[in-house]
Amino acid sequence: MTCRRILVHACCGPCALEPIRSLKDEGFEPVIFWSNPNIQPVAEYDRRLQTLLGWAEREGIEVVCAPDDGERRVLWERACAPKGFDREARCRACYALRLSAAADAARALGFDRLTTTLAVSPYQLFDVCDEVLEAVAASRGLTAVHRDWRERYPEATRRARELGLYRQSYCGCRFSAAEAQRERQIARDRRKAERARAAVRDAGGAATARASEGAIA
Ligand code: SF4
Repeated sequence: MTCRRILVHACCGPCALEPIRSLKDEGFEPVIFWSNPNIQPVAEYDRRLQTLLGWAEREGIEVVCAPDDGERRVLWERACAPKGFDREARCRACYALRLSAAADAARALGFDRLTTTLAVSPYQLFDVCDEVLEAVAASRGLTAVHRDWRERYPEATRRARELGLYRQSYCGCRFSAAEAQRERQIARDRRKAERARAAVRDAGGAATARASEGAIA
């Protein structure tokens, strides 16, 4: 029987739920690999890792952790941070750093297939990530397993909630935290403006109704 072992780079517990389920349904034997030196601050990194480890242990899924994410933080600052708020350039470099670590681990551990749970999140730059996955896998003689799990994201969110898994509110780096904060502020301002417009409409409607009643009387 063909061995269908696959190394799955995981960015966090909630994003691992549906890709792992889907890969198992396809007959793969997934092993998770963790390397995410992009996650800041360190307390957040630890929280996401512990969330993943706890869930994987309950599910009986093996997790291999990169031993050198501490040093890789320095690499992240050199390769990704200088891109600042140029999201595509920054994320491309970030995917490359993490997926290269996963590809190196796949080679060292004797896997010949590689994929990533980043492909479940609609908040990631899917095409950029997919290109990077292909490039890092091909450069090491691995097969990139391309999947688009984004349709399964709502189910991943639902299951994560049901399981009580910690769900973060930003991708990982300090830039993404600032971007998420800004997007939330824009959404709040939009809702506030909509409420104000509705109040003006309602007040206008009430005044017109009072005027009509006066005219009738
Ligand atoms: S937004 Fe996410 S993928 Fe992009 S650089 Fe930051 S942590 Fe990496």
